[in-house]
Amino acid sequence: MKITRQKHAKKHLGFFRNNFGVREPYQILLDGTFCQAALRGRIQLREQFPRYLMGETQLCTTRCVLKELETLGKDLYGAKLIAQKCQVRNCPHFKNPVSGSECLLSMVEDGNPHHYFVATQDQNLSVKVKKQPGVPLMFIIQNTMVLDKPSPKTISFVKAVESGQLVSGHEKQSITQLKEEQGLLKNPEQKRRKKRKKISGPNPLSCLKKKKKAQDTKSTPSEKKRKRKRIRNRCTSKLLSEKQNAE
Ligand SMILES: [Zn+2]
Repeated sequence: MKITRQKHAKKHLGFFRNNFGVREPYQILLDGTFCQAALRGRIQLREQFPRYLMGETQLCTTRCVLKELETLGKDLYGAKLIAQKCQVRNCPHFKNPVSGSECLLSMVEDGNPHHYFVATQDQNLSVKVKKQPGVPLMFIIQNTMVLDKPSPKTISFVKAVESGQLVSGHEKQSITQLKEEQGLLKNPEQKRRKKRKKISGPNPLSCLKKKKKAQDTKSTPSEKKRKRKRIRNRCTSKLLSEKQNAE
């Protein structure tokens, strides 16, 4: 049983890695319901997540989730302690906190740019997360954690990308990277900088070297010239002397 569970996880994870650019360390957003279920199932999240996903993981949450757990009081004290040990990721509700589920949903909207996983027991949130393509969803069932299979929305999105109807955010990134590597993308700012460099003139150090070389090269032809002059002088002197002799 355990082996098949892990096999499925590996397969699903591979799907998200290949199609959505999900990478280690896997960033998993936990909500209060998931923390509570982990507490009840006595699941050591810090051990189990990396073992199950076969990779480095970062347990994260948001201020809104923590705030919600605080307001819910004593019953969720243990869950709050678990959530407080997670890294707090910035959400857009700094001044006006929203419910944990609303907050986590906002974190994975618009193509899930930070490649978050969502770990929740909240069915309403799960349904909404599944409508966002490319968000790995995790939950606890029978005291074991499970990575859900890619949602129908996620699969149809990938098929649309493959048939050329859509360009995924992940692909957009790699396209721009390729373009940059091949020098096809030129920032107007970079062009300006290059022009400025040209105006500023050559490196003074390189000028010094050139001058030295120039002097060296100059010295040799001038010597040659002197020699020529001497030869000419000799010739003229010879001619003169001959003329004088003739006279
Ligand atoms: Zn929030």
